[in-house]
Amino acid sequence: MIGVAVLGSTGSIGLSTLDVLARHADRYRVVALTANTGVDKLYQQCLAFRPRLAAMADTDSAEQLAQRLRDSAPEIEVLAGEPGLKAAAAHADAAYVMAAIVGAAGLAPTLAAVRQGKRILLANKEALVVAGSLFMQEVQAHGAEVLPIDSEHNAVFQCMPGNFREGLEAVGVERVLLTASGGPFRTRRLEELAGVTPEQACAHPNWDMGRKISVDSATMMNKGLEVIEARWLFDASPARIQVVVHPQSVIHSMVQYTDGSVLAQLGNPDMRTPIAHALAWPGRHSSGVAALDLFEIARLDFEAPDLQRFPCLRLAFEAVSAGGVAPAVLNAANEVAVERFLDNRIPFTAIPGVIEQVLAQVTEGDATTLDGLMAADRQARLVAEQQIDSGI
Ligand code: NAD
Ligand code: MG
Repeated sequence: MIGVAVLGSTGSIGLSTLDVLARHADRYRVVALTANTGVDKLYQQCLAFRPRLAAMADTDSAEQLAQRLRDSAPEIEVLAGEPGLKAAAAHADAAYVMAAIVGAAGLAPTLAAVRQGKRILLANKEALVVAGSLFMQEVQAHGAEVLPIDSEHNAVFQCMPGNFREGLEAVGVERVLLTASGGPFRTRRLEELAGVTPEQACAHPNWDMGRKISVDSATMMNKGLEVIEARWLFDASPARIQVVVHPQSVIHSMVQYTDGSVLAQLGNPDMRTPIAHALAWPGRHSSGVAALDLFEIARLDFEAPDLQRFPCLRLAFEAVSAGGVAPAVLNAANEVAVERFLDNRIPFTAIPGVIEQVLAQVTEGDATTLDGLMAADRQARLVAEQQIDSGI
């Protein structure tokens, strides 16, 4: 039995992960679950999966959970706050850790798992955006194994040769082609974008996801974050990463080789495929996802991304090229702007402007330490809030 800790178990990726794990209950044992504030959901998951540990980021929520488990499952240990999340990530009985907390909040717990040399199933792309260089150094130093869950990076991983860590040039890889659906507003009239609601932005045409990543998909910041994620996962310079808009979301990404070959991974848009892949790797097992019906799909379309319509994608390319604290600042400003948009405090079209202003103002910081990166993150959040409150 392989012990698995699921960080962010009450979210979209967390639920898909538990679904796959339950299909292979003879092979995996859930040893730790974590959530932010969703006491009811985590309580139900505790009863169903009987982990050894349940942790909640919010202290009051953890107290409520502990109270409810006292009678029904007193053997489950309940912890709170970041120390609790880290304890779940580093749990001695967990060989695999699903990192599916959303945002920079996932970085510290995921690093705790890295430092125990575990197999990390990495959904939390923001961890790599904020601290890519440091994160990959820690992976190396502790002999951890990082398997990408993000569907594009999982696809790229599947299309890469096994020895890609020798360097992309050495193994004949020319480019990584990241596909993007273009989100719900790919063809919406530009004049209408200022008036779109959070519900419209979260209604993704192909994927059912958490609210933050859904808004990121609508601005295409999600693809920008994924460019930075690919830069670190595959040691690919930004010039070797190309974004290809592919509205059907059937090809999850591609690798182009020097001999002209392009390898692609295809599948129905369901995160249980990359999750099952990373769990079973280097083997394969079922995921619950239906087989692809190519006759029903019939056609696949491709187009270049429109940077005019999606300035967030340009900002992400600029941030990864600038390096230093810029990606951490980009991420923090984006988290604040998206949250404010979801709270109906700023229009959808204000998101890129906030991020661009913050990137211009927060440029200094030590990107070589976690403390330095977290300081830049805090400063960027502060400046973003000031920008918004001053009514840009
Ligand atoms: P979600 O909002 O549905 O779930 C987030 C989870 O994290 C929940 O369990 C929540 O309780 C927990 N959480 C939120 N804030 C927290 C905090 N401050 N501290 C501790 N825990 C916290 O998000 P999601 O869509 O499942 O996405 C999770 C991660 O996976 C994100 O980084 C996202 O970019 C990435 N991802 C998601 C998908 C998808 O299909 N949903 C695809 C690719 C990548
Ligand atoms: Mg993705």
